[in-house]
Amino acid sequence: MMPTEYNFVACPSYHGATLMAMLLNNHSQLVSLGDTIPRRLDASPCVCGATLETCPFWQRMQTDMGLQQQDENETLFAPLPEIMRTTRKNMMANYALARLAGIAGPAAWNLQASSRDAFLDRYSRLHQVTCEITEARKFIDGTKNPVKIYAFENMLRPRPVIRVLHITRDPRAFIASCRKYNELPLEVNTRYWRRYHRFALKHFANNPRMEYLQLRLEDLCTDADAHLEKVQQFFGVEPEQLTVPSRFESKRHLVGNRSAINRFDGHLKLDESFREKLSATEQSDILKRTNPLAARFGYAG
Ligand SMILES: [Zn+2]
Repeated sequence: MMPTEYNFVACPSYHGATLMAMLLNNHSQLVSLGDTIPRRLDASPCVCGATLETCPFWQRMQTDMGLQQQDENETLFAPLPEIMRTTRKNMMANYALARLAGIAGPAAWNLQASSRDAFLDRYSRLHQVTCEITEARKFIDGTKNPVKIYAFENMLRPRPVIRVLHITRDPRAFIASCRKYNELPLEVNTRYWRRYHRFALKHFANNPRMEYLQLRLEDLCTDADAHLEKVQQFFGVEPEQLTVPSRFESKRHLVGNRSAINRFDGHLKLDESFREKLSATEQSDILKRTNPLAARFGYAG
């Protein structure tokens, strides 16, 4: 059975998606796996301290999703219907088909009916199995791929409830984080920032077929409880206290650095270290490259 609602957290990398997943997981009725796209037999670390190969949670996910017989390179849950073999081409093909469906209606997906059906079937199993294992009621999808959200919106009939929590972050702080983890030139990273947020505004904000909430990571960090209350109401649950250390053992299985969850004590702190890490010239260059969008989100000063 297909889920009746689809809830997403949309943001580029280094925008606090894992933090948001940890916070949402402190709600008794919500579960988020963060931005996890693990492969079968993946040796990546789970924050519980095991690897995905040995973690009981992920083993059960594989078993319950009926994935034992699959290719070991296959991801446990595909980000999109598989239309093309390579990731980038597949994303473009899905975007094209979603656009077509936006004009012609969801029946346009009949062109790729078997890919769509296989994808939807696995996606609904993911919802169901994740909720069963964690005893949560709602699944919050933290996958960062914005085309996926757009594709869902144009794929499903009757149209379900689709909620998108869009997180923004100061592009200068984003660039300072990028430098820690990648060596791409500044213009590549600023382009990614710009494209992502532009896409989100174009397809998610002011979209009458979606419920949309924008949240600045900076506001979350400076006034967490007030903003988390809005976020919980947005996802349709009674607000609970989320700014506490990780409450539920069954929801400590995000893919990622163990220290992230062990260090997490529920308190949020605004990281403004970019002001020292980046020169004044770099900061103004980043703003120049990301405006007017950056100013629109309030990242001017
Ligand atoms: Zn684990």
